[in-house]
Amino acid sequence: MFYKSTRDSGLKVTAAQAIAQGISADGGLFLPSEIPTITMEELKGLAELPYAERADVVFGKFLTDFTPEEIHYCTSHAYNTKNFETEAIAELTGAFGNAHILELWHGPTCAFKDMALQILPYLLTTSLKKNGEDKEVVILVATSGDTGKAALEGFRDVPGTRIMVFYPEHGVSSMQKRQMATQEGGNVQVCALEGNFDDCQNGVKRIFTDPAVKDKLAAGGKMFSSANSINWGRLAPQIVYYVSAYAEMAKRGDIAFGETLNAVVPTGNFGNILAAYYAKKMGVPIGKLICASNINKVLTDFLETGVYDRNRAFFATCSPSMDILISSNLERLLFLLTDGDDAQIRDWFGKLSTEGTYTVTDEVKAKLQAEFAAGFCDDAQTKQTIHEFKEKYGYTLDTHTAVAVKVYLDHIAKTGDTTKTLIASTASPYKFSASVLDAIEDVQDGADEYALVDRLAQVSGLPIPPSLAALKDKPVRFTDVIRPAEMERYVLGQLTKA
Ligand SMILES: *Cc1c(COP(=O)(O)O)cnc(C)c1O
Repeated sequence: MFYKSTRDSGLKVTAAQAIAQGISADGGLFLPSEIPTITMEELKGLAELPYAERADVVFGKFLTDFTPEEIHYCTSHAYNTKNFETEAIAELTGAFGNAHILELWHGPTCAFKDMALQILPYLLTTSLKKNGEDKEVVILVATSGDTGKAALEGFRDVPGTRIMVFYPEHGVSSMQKRQMATQEGGNVQVCALEGNFDDCQNGVKRIFTDPAVKDKLAAGGKMFSSANSINWGRLAPQIVYYVSAYAEMAKRGDIAFGETLNAVVPTGNFGNILAAYYAKKMGVPIGKLICASNINKVLTDFLETGVYDRNRAFFATCSPSMDILISSNLERLLFLLTDGDDAQIRDWFGKLSTEGTYTVTDEVKAKLQAEFAAGFCDDAQTKQTIHEFKEKYGYTLDTHTAVAVKVYLDHIAKTGDTTKTLIASTASPYKFSASVLDAIEDVQDGADEYALVDRLAQVSGLPIPPSLAALKDKPVRFTDVIRPAEMERYVLGQLTKA
């Protein structure tokens, strides 16, 4: 197996090269030349293994240029109880009707991004070694709140790497901001941007693909890579938990081996749900993939109409990690659904950057609708869902997972679908304490963040994650705020300073 680019299907690189580079020089995203399969027998076998060894099997199929020892070095250093609060790594709840919730937030930063970003530094440094690369790697990250912190934790003090994170100044929760501004480590930098997530992401993509910047870096013995879900090293680890969850549910008897399982995913950049799609195409019996959005519902509209249109108002919501109008990983899906038509992808994504919109063919639209369902809800519905779920089941949802639950409930109300369903839970409610408490009980505005955390502990009965509790006493290290146009100069300035 090799990897090609969504904008150049003739390209052939190894997994190690794809992971080290992050994004293809043509601006496209790397993806494997074929999708490996997994049999029901293999799934039964996986059910008996701990998470890290399940990951070994899945990675072995995608990272064919890695040795089993290299893969196990990565998985065993990432997926252990030093980094995760639960032995299962990803925790499955009991049944809520026909649905089970997959809690992906028991890692060090309390969001599902840890599932990939705890292992990415190992995959990346192993890749560099395999490639014979001795340049220092500079990781540039655009974040809507959770990726930034998870990447900082993953890469802090990793030898041979530096990491710089850009987040939208007014687009993250106060806990998310505090997590990033207090980040420890000698190789980290955090900067706020006067703009939204799309500005951060566009800026980072621009810097990555600018040959002049690349040359300047190379002259200083450095190279860029990406920790965003444009990097295949972010996507592959996310496939693992869908494969693992299916095996686990079948082992527990929640479903029979071979039974169809729907998946609902709270979606922003389309990375998480694309991983579920890959698991399905490998042979995991996943049925409908239900794409849940907040009021920034560009994906709901796209999956309904075949028209992707980012020319619309942008809303800051109580599920900020999904406040995105340009879902990067859709490019990978469309490449797959056009059977690798790179000219078509260049045309559509060229239009997206010049006109902000493109329309897929009827054939592609039909393929999309055969695999995906979609829905959205606004903040009021999100909070109402948190309230009602808590009343009914005593379970506290975070704002992102609540969007998924609401869209799931709408889906079954509309279709009568009784298929067993897996709902991806992407964050701990503690990361969004103010909104979650506001949903459960009317909380007074302006209450101190940690008073809210304490109150949420009383109301939810959930233990406060130690990593969040510890932030209270950590000094703020990063206060820079810049305009999007200043990003390139800022990055180069930082890199020549040290
Ligand atoms: C990143 C994130 C999402 C969106 O995931 P994508 O892979 O970008 O679609 C949803 N919820 C939370 C809490 C997140 O951090």
